[in-house]
Amino acid sequence: MSSIKELTRLMHELDDQLRVCMRCGMCQAVCPLFSETGLESDVARGKLALLDGLVQQLFKDPKGVNDRLNKCLLCGSCAANCPSGVNVLEIFIKARAILTGFMGLSPVKKVILRGVLSQPEIFNRMIEWGSKFQKIFTRPASERIGTSCARLASPLLRNRHFKPLAPVPFHRMIPHLNTDRGSSGIKVALYVGCLIDKIFPDIARDVIDVLNHHGVGIFMPEGQGCCGIPAISSGDMKTFNRLLRHNLEIFDAEKFDFLVTSCATCTWTIKEIWPMMADKDSGYVKSRVEKIAQKTLDINQFLVSKVGLENIKDDARVDPVTVTYHDPCHLKKTLGVFAEPRSLIKANPGYRLKEMPESDRCCGLGGNFNLQYYELSANIGKLKIDNIKASGCQVVATGCPACMLQLFDMLSKSGDNITVKHPVEIYAERLRNYPYRCL
Ligand code: SF4
Ligand code: SF4
Repeated sequence: MSSIKELTRLMHELDDQLRVCMRCGMCQAVCPLFSETGLESDVARGKLALLDGLVQQLFKDPKGVNDRLNKCLLCGSCAANCPSGVNVLEIFIKARAILTGFMGLSPVKKVILRGVLSQPEIFNRMIEWGSKFQKIFTRPASERIGTSCARLASPLLRNRHFKPLAPVPFHRMIPHLNTDRGSSGIKVALYVGCLIDKIFPDIARDVIDVLNHHGVGIFMPEGQGCCGIPAISSGDMKTFNRLLRHNLEIFDAEKFDFLVTSCATCTWTIKEIWPMMADKDSGYVKSRVEKIAQKTLDINQFLVSKVGLENIKDDARVDPVTVTYHDPCHLKKTLGVFAEPRSLIKANPGYRLKEMPESDRCCGLGGNFNLQYYELSANIGKLKIDNIKASGCQVVATGCPACMLQLFDMLSKSGDNITVKHPVEIYAERLRNYPYRCL
C-alpha cells in the first residue's frame, strides 16, 4: 500500500476532469441507481464530489470513497445527459484503478482475476470443468427459456435464474479461422468475447454464417483472452494489462480491415477503454491499441454500414412475431449505435418490431454491480421487464450478452412467455428461412 501523499498525487491527475462538473444535478434524473436509493452518494455528482474531496485532502477515507465509487453500474446514463460533458466513466474507471492500486485487491478478487481470468488457458479449463459438473449444483428453473437456478442455498448464486454454461464452448466448436476475402472484398477479425464463447456459442455461429453469406473473410485467432472489463472495473490494472498485451499479440491489425464483436461491452472496452488506459504505455503498445480501436465495430454497425443487409419491404411480413429491442447502455449511450440492430431485426419478415417505453433505460446488470448488489440490480431489472411487457412482445432482442443474462433472469422469474435473442440471431434466421431476396 502506498502512502496517502502518493494517493493524493495520483488523484491530482483527475483534477482537471473533476473541475468540469458544475454540480447542476441533472444526472440525478437519469441515474437508475439514484432512482432506486435516492442517495446523493449513488449519483455521479455525489461520487465526483467525494473524489474531489480526496484530491483536495478534505478527508482521508479512501476506502469509504472506493466503496461508494464501486456502487455504480458504469451505465454512462449520467455522462450521456451531462450538459457540461463530464467524462464520468473515464473518471470513475481511472479513480477505481488508482484507489485499488493504493489499497490492494481483496483476496477473493485476486484469486478470480489474477489467478484465473488473466490466464485464458486456465480460465477456459475451469469453465469447461464447471460446465461438466454444473448439474450437481444447479437444477432447471424454466424449461421454456432454458434457465437454471441453485439446487441448494448459495451465497454466490442466490435466487438467480441464469443461463447455464454451454456444454461445448465456441472455441472448441471452431478453434480458429482464417478465410479469404469473398465477394465483399472485406476481411474482419472476429473477437468472440467470454459470454458468447462460454454461454451463448450459437450467437458466434450465427455471426460466422452471416459473414460467410455476405462474402466477408474471417480472421479468428486461437487463444483469445477476455477483453479485460471485469478486471478494470475492479481497478485491477495488473490483470487488465496482462489481458491487453495477450490480445494485442494475437490480433495483428495489419491482418484485417475491421475487428467486429457481437458483445456491446467488449466493443466499448476495445474501442474506448483500451486506448484510455494504454495512454501512458510505450509507443509500441499505444499505437497497436489505437489501430485496433479505430478498426473496431459492433457487428450490427459493421453489417449495416460496411456490407449492406438483405432488406425487405414492410408488406412482405406474414404473421410476424412481435419483437421489441432493448438498447444496451454501452452500445447506445457510449457508442451511439441504436438504429443498426433495429435494421437487422426489420430485415427478417418473420418479425415485427414494436418499441417499448424507455428502450434505452439500463437493465440493471452492470457486471460486478450485479454480483455485489443483486437486490438493487434485480429491482432495476424489474422496471425494464415492465417496459418490455408493455410492448406486448413475444421476443426481446438486445445487442449485449450481459444484458441478455439479466433479461433471462428477470423473465424466467416473472414467468412471462417472452424469450431473449441477439439481433444477429434474428438476421441469421432471416438468411436461413428466407434465402431469396424479399424486395
Ligand atoms: S456530472 Fe454533469 S450532470 Fe452531473 S452534476 Fe456534474 S455537470 Fe451536472
Ligand atoms: S454510471 Fe449509471 S449508475 Fe453510475 S452514476 Fe452514472 S448513471 Fe448512475
